Amino acid sequence: MFGIHHLHYVILLLGLIGLLFVVHHLTRFATNPRIIPISVNYHLTRACNYSCGFCFHTAKTSHVESLSNAKKGMALLKASGMKKINFAGGEPFMNAEFLGQLAKYCKETLKVESVSVVTNGSKVTSKWLAKYGKYLDIMAVSCDSFDDTTNVKIGRGTGNHVKTFMDLCEMCKEHGVMFKVNTVVNRYNFQEDMNAAIDKIKPFRWKCFQVLIVPEENGSENTLRDARRFVINDEEWRLFCDKHKRQECFVPEGNDVMASSYLLLDENLCFLNKGVAKPTRSILDIGVAEALTDVYWDEEGFQKRGGVYQWSKPDASERPAHPELEW
Ligand code: SF4
Repeated sequence: MFGIHHLHYVILLLGLIGLLFVVHHLTRFATNPRIIPISVNYHLTRACNYSCGFCFHTAKTSHVESLSNAKKGMALLKASGMKKINFAGGEPFMNAEFLGQLAKYCKETLKVESVSVVTNGSKVTSKWLAKYGKYLDIMAVSCDSFDDTTNVKIGRGTGNHVKTFMDLCEMCKEHGVMFKVNTVVNRYNFQEDMNAAIDKIKPFRWKCFQVLIVPEENGSENTLRDARRFVINDEEWRLFCDKHKRQECFVPEGNDVMASSYLLLDENLCFLNKGVAKPTRSILDIGVAEALTDVYWDEEGFQKRGGVYQWSKPDASERPAHPELEW
């Protein structure tokens, strides 16, 4: 028989479950105090026309949000404190018109301080830059070697990447877009001396990443890419860094700094927890603040890698400069 003392047990049990629920949420908040998403990387597509062997954001889906949803997501992020948006992929220029419209919306309507894109450079045209270049502060172009035989070994194009890259550097100058270089240092290029090429190009920033294994993307024979053959040890990484440290624009980023110091938004507008946990739910469904409570973000790592830097075009004087961005 279900007596009065049974009822007490049920009430007690429900109370306990309620208490655990509250404690869980409070603990989560306490260990992840409110993150301000100052700088966000939006990986708007996973599709790409290149096939770099170490790619760590692979074409697991072909989904791209509708432009109106993507704009809503950007507006939510801006309202939560975003000052820099970086469009990444895959290759963002697989959807060049979408990218241009979104950059325009972020810069013109939302007045985001810094709008940038990371690209392999192969699909950027002068026509696109003439139409949308004014909405971009920075174009970061990937180049892992100034010898195309090495680029081909890596999967970065089919033998014409260096010329494409150099041409794009000129186009960015013509259209007033700051030019940044991204290099993934790996088994095939860590001995290369890139000083002469960097002297010639003079990028405002040259970011060099130690090749990174992300288990669910490139960490085994069961993932779309297997980057294990590209891995270098810390001594090889230091060799590359020492060779190039005289470059003022040189910004090295080893594995110790990189892993969780980015806020990454995927093609579904969900924050990623690469190598740590599943993605959050979409910011369109639960809002930015709620999604951020489930993100593992290494803010110290973000500051350590110099995540905040001079990221707007120098001529953008009409935009307010935040004192904390001046270093
Ligand atoms: S260009 Fe970038 S997105 Fe494309 S395969 Fe290479 S690393 Fe991956």
